[in-house]
Amino acid sequence: MSVRHGAARTVQSDDGCVSTEAGSRRRSLRPVPEGDSIHHAAVRIRPVLLGGPLERVRTPSPRTAPKRWDRRLADATVERIEARGKHLLIFFAGDLALHSHLRMTGSWAVRRSGERWPRSPRRAWLVLSRGGHDVIEFDGPFLELRTHRQVATDPRLAALGPDICVPGELDVERVLARIRQGDPSRPVGDALLDQRAVAGIGNVWKCEACWAQRVDPTLATQAVDDERIAAMLAWTAPRIQHCAQNGTHLRPKKVYGKDGRPCPRCGTAVVRRGIGDENRPTYWCPGCQR
Ligand SMILES: [Zn+2]
Repeated sequence: MSVRHGAARTVQSDDGCVSTEAGSRRRSLRPVPEGDSIHHAAVRIRPVLLGGPLERVRTPSPRTAPKRWDRRLADATVERIEARGKHLLIFFAGDLALHSHLRMTGSWAVRRSGERWPRSPRRAWLVLSRGGHDVIEFDGPFLELRTHRQVATDPRLAALGPDICVPGELDVERVLARIRQGDPSRPVGDALLDQRAVAGIGNVWKCEACWAQRVDPTLATQAVDDERIAAMLAWTAPRIQHCAQNGTHLRPKKVYGKDGRPCPRCGTAVVRRGIGDENRPTYWCPGCQR
């Protein structure tokens, strides 16, 4: 099931922190899920769910209660958990798999059973419990129980570019080729978000990679040469992979959410503007990013 949400949302990240994006002016910005959020969710979920059958399955949200996943997944054993770009896949022994995409609003949380949850139980679309811990998916918005074959043939998954969160997977030549196939007039910041070119980069990493390599994210992609795009990818890969393993609180944050404050490199005030087809809020320094 897919649900459309408004542009301005206050959400919580997978580690339970309040986050905001498009349209919000709140401070203490926390980003919406990106590839490293999903990979880190998988890192936290695996020790809970792998190793034996599920002990309890619940669907507290009225959105998922009618699906009877508690019956379909009763006593199911998790075989493997994969993150692919911003998708999380939980494969069960047999033929079922959960396919999740958090988009702007969803989150995964892991809590000890009985511990307070970071969001209301009514927002919990699914709770998988094992070994005294709950794995909770909040607020969908895309969560489906599918067959292994449906996952294997899913066109959205098949279309993903190399996952920058996976060590060794980034194929820069392939990413550049895909980016060059896209609209040459689109902002280069927007091109970095194209999951068919490179999977895993979201809005925060887009802004930070552009700042780190002194690239103005609003430039048309055709005005930015391959070397500069490759440099942004090379800068991002080891850092996002580190966060994928160890948590998104370790992300560099030089410009994201810092509009009006001085650029740490040149002191010019950081600006914020929506760019690209989805008008994603973009932060950059007009003083040193060209
Ligand atoms: Zn600057």
